Amino acid sequence: MATKYVYMFTEGNAGMRNLLGGKGANLAEMTGLGLPVPQGFTITTEACTQYYEDGRQINDEIMEQIRVGIDRMEEITGKKFGDKENPLLVSVRSGARASMPGMMDTILNLGLNEEVTEILAAKSGNPRWAWDCYRRFIQMFSDVVMEVGKKYFEELIDQMKHSKGVTMDTELTAENLKELANQFKAEYKAKIGEDFPDDPKVQLVEAIKAVFRSWDNPRANVYRRDNDIPYSWGTAVNVQMMAFGNMGETSGTGVAFTRDPATGEKKLMGEFLLNAQGEDVVAGVRTPNPIAKLEEMMPEVYEQFVNICSILENHYRDMQDMEFTIEDRHLYMLQTRNGKRTAPAALKIACDLVDEGMIDEKQAVLMIDPRNLDTLLHPQFDSNALKRAIPVAKGLPASPGAACGQIVFTAEDAKAWKARGKKVVLVRLETSPEDIEGMKSAQGIITVRGGMTSHAAVVARGMGACCVSGVSEIQMDEANKKFTVGYREFKEGDWISADGSTGNIYMGSIPTVDATIAGEFGRIMGWADKYRRMKVRTNADTPTDAKRAHELGAEGIGLCRTEHMFFEKDRIEAFREMIVADTVEEREKALDKILPVQENDFEQLYEALEGAPVTIRFLDPPLHEFVPTEEADIEKLASVQHKTTGAIHSIIDALHEFNPMMGHRGVRLAITYPEIARMQTKAVIRAAINVSKRHPDWSVKPEIMVPLVGDNKEFEFAKKTIVETADEEIRNAGVEMGYEVGTMIEIPRAALTADEIAKDADFFCFGTNDLTQMTYGFSRDDAGKFLAAYYNAKIFENDPFAKLDQNGVGKLMDMAIKLGKSVNPTLHCGICGEHGGDPSSIEFCDKLGLDYVSCSPFRVPIARLAAAQAAIKAEQE
Ligand code: PEP
Ligand code: MG
Repeated sequence: MATKYVYMFTEGNAGMRNLLGGKGANLAEMTGLGLPVPQGFTITTEACTQYYEDGRQINDEIMEQIRVGIDRMEEITGKKFGDKENPLLVSVRSGARASMPGMMDTILNLGLNEEVTEILAAKSGNPRWAWDCYRRFIQMFSDVVMEVGKKYFEELIDQMKHSKGVTMDTELTAENLKELANQFKAEYKAKIGEDFPDDPKVQLVEAIKAVFRSWDNPRANVYRRDNDIPYSWGTAVNVQMMAFGNMGETSGTGVAFTRDPATGEKKLMGEFLLNAQGEDVVAGVRTPNPIAKLEEMMPEVYEQFVNICSILENHYRDMQDMEFTIEDRHLYMLQTRNGKRTAPAALKIACDLVDEGMIDEKQAVLMIDPRNLDTLLHPQFDSNALKRAIPVAKGLPASPGAACGQIVFTAEDAKAWKARGKKVVLVRLETSPEDIEGMKSAQGIITVRGGMTSHAAVVARGMGACCVSGVSEIQMDEANKKFTVGYREFKEGDWISADGSTGNIYMGSIPTVDATIAGEFGRIMGWADKYRRMKVRTNADTPTDAKRAHELGAEGIGLCRTEHMFFEKDRIEAFREMIVADTVEEREKALDKILPVQENDFEQLYEALEGAPVTIRFLDPPLHEFVPTEEADIEKLASVQHKTTGAIHSIIDALHEFNPMMGHRGVRLAITYPEIARMQTKAVIRAAINVSKRHPDWSVKPEIMVPLVGDNKEFEFAKKTIVETADEEIRNAGVEMGYEVGTMIEIPRAALTADEIAKDADFFCFGTNDLTQMTYGFSRDDAGKFLAAYYNAKIFENDPFAKLDQNGVGKLMDMAIKLGKSVNPTLHCGICGEHGGDPSSIEFCDKLGLDYVSCSPFRVPIARLAAAQAAIKAEQE
């Protein structure tokens, strides 16, 4: 059967999101619920992928289905494209499977030409409205479809206002707007070399292509990468009969949420503008009215709207974000979707919905985007410091969080300053989708214009950035990179603090404090812990990190990188003595100095984890990373070692490697210098014995991990040293103590021969940083330099060092687990590469049957939630 590429709204439903996109599926669902939806059709996401497969062409088959769609739309609405009696006008909007607010293109008022405009002007008795629609359409079509920059049209508007002696767009008359429309068309012809298209069907096909094309625009590509949305999904296109919010004071358009997207509070929240069209609200150019005002202005419409909100929320069992238009007191629903929300709002809404009996605990766990939790773990303003601070201005609390940084005025500056290691707050009149990368680079965003649903607010909430919008007290001077609030002047580079939860702006920087897991956050994490299967450990090398991670719910340490314990000034000297030692005796002398330091470190780690498992990895780094480069340090080392500086220099030269990542590191160190492994074993075992004595109720069982094994003989060699040393320590102490010796799997050969290694290993821990590096052959330190080209060429959608390559690296992991367990059924397996904190990689680890994931302390709650979601999804499948 031929593929169906076009669905009328009457043919779809909410379950068809993959095919119809979120917007199309929900328009169909609302139609099915009998709600007032202007009718139309959806061109499927499959049509979009086909368009790209066909070399960016809409093929004949799809074109024919679009034609049939138009005919049926004309029948349903009783209007016709280009008709003299009853002309049909449509909006053309994108709508992907996952919502990507503001990332793709939209065209309104399509179907207009001069003749149709005259007819509308006469029929409506409102020529100003008709000509305003037409000039808007020419502007939008030119910008979106033909990429004739907006600014040319804006200049023409400014000239027109100037010549008519008015300051506001709304003061232009019908005649002025008609003249403007003609100027726009002339501009179009000058830029494109063709007349502006008059045939609505030609306009429509071009607009559909533009929406398909916008799936691949740079900002959509960035947004997708950040939000794990595959390129292969494509976008649907919705062609919908226009409802006009700009027909006068009994018309309007707005956006509303059934609960507060910033706090989660259960109350209708929204904004609308009278006599305006769709984009005016989100663009943030005019500051809109709160929805409650609608009750005063049009009580019946308000009542109908409130009723629809509750129908929709009960139907979807989640907070809804809706767009509506009122055309001469008739309400139309243009969109509904599960609303984007801040992390605190997400937690509150999920808990409230459980308490209201709308959803169960598992659904609540599934509702939270784990990546969002990150914002809750960021520092908050210190409440005492905040009490003492006096706000200099106040705007709308558009997206919570504490932002403190130096003022910049453009998205490009935000990016550039961040790259130089600066913390910045982006202050703009209003933001637009092109600003997204700059917004990402900023600690927070402050806008002068715009409401709670302005672009800045929506995008900031989506990415968990602090945002204060609509700070109208700011007198902006963008050109000179400064602004004033009252008598105070703020310049580029000045420090400013913004509180996204209250909307307050403060001069200077306010100190912040660490966040805690309590209240609704604690409740959701409790449910997550109840349903997850994998344990969550942390990668921590210092007692402070270990303690913090334990507070955040870590159930052990999955990786302690012992080389990181020697970064501090007073320790690195002993470490250097060890590196430059010529003989075993010299090295042992240096190791004797290091031993008590390590022992003490390990004790503190065991203490911080209160008896939970602690995996200590033996020395891994290329040694040259630690050699001194400053002459003074070299002289000092020479004097301690009773050597000449020349001798030290030659030792340093000898340590040089062309490819240190594949060099003298990992288990290779334990083979060339077994005394290092001996020292580390002593430190681990002694620390464990001491802590066990202090806390007889804890079961301290050391886990010693050997890095970078590629051959079982390497592991056997290292293990022999470890076991002999550990057994002797335990014997000498006269205690009973079990311990485990395992290995990292981070070299492809280790995965391929895991059945040989597992005979001797108690556990495997996947070091997917190195495993990715070695599997792809990409240097983990340098890949960033060329990955951008890979994204542009669509070779990669994501950085494989951040998101696990399931097809390649994942296959090696799967193989290693199966081979390993086939010879050692008690083998336990975990992951401690960066991927252990990435939600989609965690889901994959759950499928592989790993026992735990280990990640950096601040990712622990994210991993707990992601692990629970993986387990719940697996159970539901
Ligand atoms: C790894 O390679 O994944 C790993 C955890 O070890 P490191 O990052 O220290 O090389
Ligand atoms: Mg490694």
